[in-house]
Amino acid sequence: MPNNGKSGHSAPFGFSTRAIWSGQDACRTTGATIVPVYQTATFTQARVGVTKGFDYSRTANPTRLAVERQLAALEGGAYASAFGSGMAAVAGAASLLSSGDHILATRDIYGGTHRLFTAVLSRYAIDVTFVDTRDPEATWAARKPNTRLLWLETPSNPTLRLCDIAGIARNKPAGVIVAVDNTFASPFLQQPLALGADLVVHSTTKYIAGHSDVIGGVVITNDSSIAERIAYHQNCVGAVPGVWDAYLTLRGAKTLALRMRAHSHNAQAVAEFLARRDDVVAVHYPGLPTHPQHELARRQMSGFGGIVSFRPAGGGERARAIAGGTSIFSLAVSLGGVESLICSPATMTHGSLSPAALAELEISDDLLRLSVGVEEEEDLIADLARTLDATKVPLRGHPKP
Ligand SMILES: *Cc1c(COP(=O)(O)O)cnc(C)c1O
Repeated sequence: MPNNGKSGHSAPFGFSTRAIWSGQDACRTTGATIVPVYQTATFTQARVGVTKGFDYSRTANPTRLAVERQLAALEGGAYASAFGSGMAAVAGAASLLSSGDHILATRDIYGGTHRLFTAVLSRYAIDVTFVDTRDPEATWAARKPNTRLLWLETPSNPTLRLCDIAGIARNKPAGVIVAVDNTFASPFLQQPLALGADLVVHSTTKYIAGHSDVIGGVVITNDSSIAERIAYHQNCVGAVPGVWDAYLTLRGAKTLALRMRAHSHNAQAVAEFLARRDDVVAVHYPGLPTHPQHELARRQMSGFGGIVSFRPAGGGERARAIAGGTSIFSLAVSLGGVESLICSPATMTHGSLSPAALAELEISDDLLRLSVGVEEEEDLIADLARTLDATKVPLRGHPKP
């Protein structure tokens, strides 16, 4: 059976009901209520060519199929293909292109996507132009006759710039596929397919799996011809998740709504706390009324998510002292897990960018990114308050990491 079956996305059911039940019927043979981990490479056939829908686990596996149907249902999509990482999913979406095609992309897309587009696809004569997608008109103005893919990421990393998915998709020229990397928002907060996107990509490593214990990705669409080509690529190239990874993702995604509400609540509290400090010079969070695109965020998202970035007064030296000085926020890259993380984008996640590119994206060396977890709000704020106080300029020595 191809792994692109209808999810039966159960329009009458709400988000968490779909998260817990879509694609997850009880096992017909044993009655197992929870989808088992089908740790098998192959499936025995009753007679030559007669299968129960599965013959080889690269092509399709019941545990993977369950998470594909679950995630399709969460995005309001009919089809999903799961991959072994977010980057494998991005590469899956890029497989829709051919030599000679052109990509338009949000300027501040994920670094790995930037690298795939510029360093790898360029060798296959696929060009990319980066645009400021905060401006829908400028976005399409950069289009070329051979533009086949528009790649959007909103909110962006790490400065949380937004683009108006519906406003851009509305003017989509024929022959262009609009793709949205929805990793930062998650399907709970933002539904790009309903806003007019043709496909959605996730690094399920982040909010969807939600516990920082698995790497994965997914491509979701309502377009059967796109779905067929992605599923073909998935089987052909074989960058599929193992069954335990599929299982952990399926399990994590059941609580996505609960977690996203808690992430958004805590991040709002943290952003408001930082905005009140006189030793913080800038706070980026779409939930603050001072965010330049706050109105768009309210319209396009049902909450503002768990990522906050900020610039403490005192420059890069103090920022690094803060990053190394928190006790709950752990100094680490990645995001979207239940635990709070802090990082210095200029050196940790975006270290390979040129000084000019960093300046263009407003990633100064004093910028810090928080992935606000679901611990107690009071504890997170106390941790930040203590660390900010301990590092007030002039530096009173660096707190131990
Ligand atoms: C992490 C991430 C990716 C890449 O996903 P991996 O699972 O690390 O391969 C792509 N896009 C965004 C926005 C991400 O945060």
